[in-house]
Amino acid sequence: MTVDYRQMWKELGLNLENHDALMEVLGKVYAEIFVSQKNRPEKTSYLDFVMSEVHGARIQELVEAKKQGRKVIGTYCTFVPEEIVIAANGIMVGLCAGADFATEEVEKILPKNLCALIKSTFGFKLGGVCPYLEASDLIVGENTCDGKKKAWEVFGNLVKKMYVMDMPQVKTQDGKALLKKEYLKFISQIQELTGNSITVESLRKGIEIVNAKRQAVYRLSKARINNPVPVSGLDSLLINQIFFYEDPIRFTQQINELCDELERRVSEGKGSFPAGTPRILFSGCPMAVPNWKIPAIIETTGGVIVAEESCVGERGTRNLVESTGDTLDSLVDAIVDRYFQIDCAIFSPNQDRLTHIKEMYRKYNADGVVLYGIQFCSPYAVEAIGIEKELEKSGIPATRIETDYSQEDVGQLKTRLQAFIERIAKCPSPQESTSALQQ
Ligand code: SF4
Ligand code: SF4
Repeated sequence: MTVDYRQMWKELGLNLENHDALMEVLGKVYAEIFVSQKNRPEKTSYLDFVMSEVHGARIQELVEAKKQGRKVIGTYCTFVPEEIVIAANGIMVGLCAGADFATEEVEKILPKNLCALIKSTFGFKLGGVCPYLEASDLIVGENTCDGKKKAWEVFGNLVKKMYVMDMPQVKTQDGKALLKKEYLKFISQIQELTGNSITVESLRKGIEIVNAKRQAVYRLSKARINNPVPVSGLDSLLINQIFFYEDPIRFTQQINELCDELERRVSEGKGSFPAGTPRILFSGCPMAVPNWKIPAIIETTGGVIVAEESCVGERGTRNLVESTGDTLDSLVDAIVDRYFQIDCAIFSPNQDRLTHIKEMYRKYNADGVVLYGIQFCSPYAVEAIGIEKELEKSGIPATRIETDYSQEDVGQLKTRLQAFIERIAKCPSPQESTSALQQ
């Protein structure tokens, strides 16, 4: 029997009419893109369940937790450390939005030519369709790109409680010191909000929970190195998306079980795509739910995505936090060490990102790189031009794709991606081309 969540949504303040419209489209798109895939691992049923209950069972859990006095913290960036939130017995949920909503309303308060990610965030608020946003006791914005930095000034007037975190833009010791200062301020803010003190033990526990979650996703990544690849890029992307709002302990357990199955499939030579399918490394802007457009085009046009160099992907999940420190300060330092390695395009210069893309290309036996940018995202768009040149110079085929959340350019994108996939299918083997990297 399906549970009726309407009363809960109403109490959270959602606009039921708009919400119905969104959920109808989401359900349809999910069925078309995900459920219709061939040769899916059985344990992807977990993903189907999570998605079918994305605004249901998980929200009910949050509401129950709030009744028990726990606080929900909504965030928009991989720079916000979940370890700290868990250490104060809070729950962190990612709020980035991947679909256009209430665009007309949004464009009354924001310029048209702002990236779709920010506009969508506003649209979900103005349209009253995001229960995660409405369940959040605190919204954390971060001063990364200029668009976000200025948008928070406006967004702060729309939500109950907003906290803005400053971010370094350079990878120097000063930049690192700023990040530490901001994390210490964040700790005070979270302690005040939750009424719980963060201790060495609770922070270590928070670190271990998040490390385990990252390790599970890393195990998934390792399985994808194989040829044939045991799981599609679409399902892997969904796992990276669910990472941001599913209960971390349940997520870890379920993804590890899925990895058990993937490892069995690898030993049996079973793949979600035939061996030899052109392998794509997807790199660039984050892809919030339900932004599945480009991955769906790639995987229905002859390619398979084997890794994501993205904040919804390896940029957000790699590197663990050292948990052995025995003082609060040393644990905070360990958190800073891990997060300071995130190579977001807001950093200048950002050589580490290019190095990481090359490493990933080699490690995942990719045949080509798709550099993905959300239209009007300057940091990634500017960086992509240089990266594409550098990759091609190293013998790595690359292409730049810039798009928004609309469906208007699907035909054009299909043609371009198909041409790219045909080009890399004719290329020398990854081993041959990666030898160019070592020169
Ligand atoms: S791309 Fe940069 S601003 Fe966006 S989530 Fe990642 S770290 Fe944050
Ligand atoms: S996609 Fe680009 S412009 Fe948009 S919020 Fe992220 S970094 Fe900023």
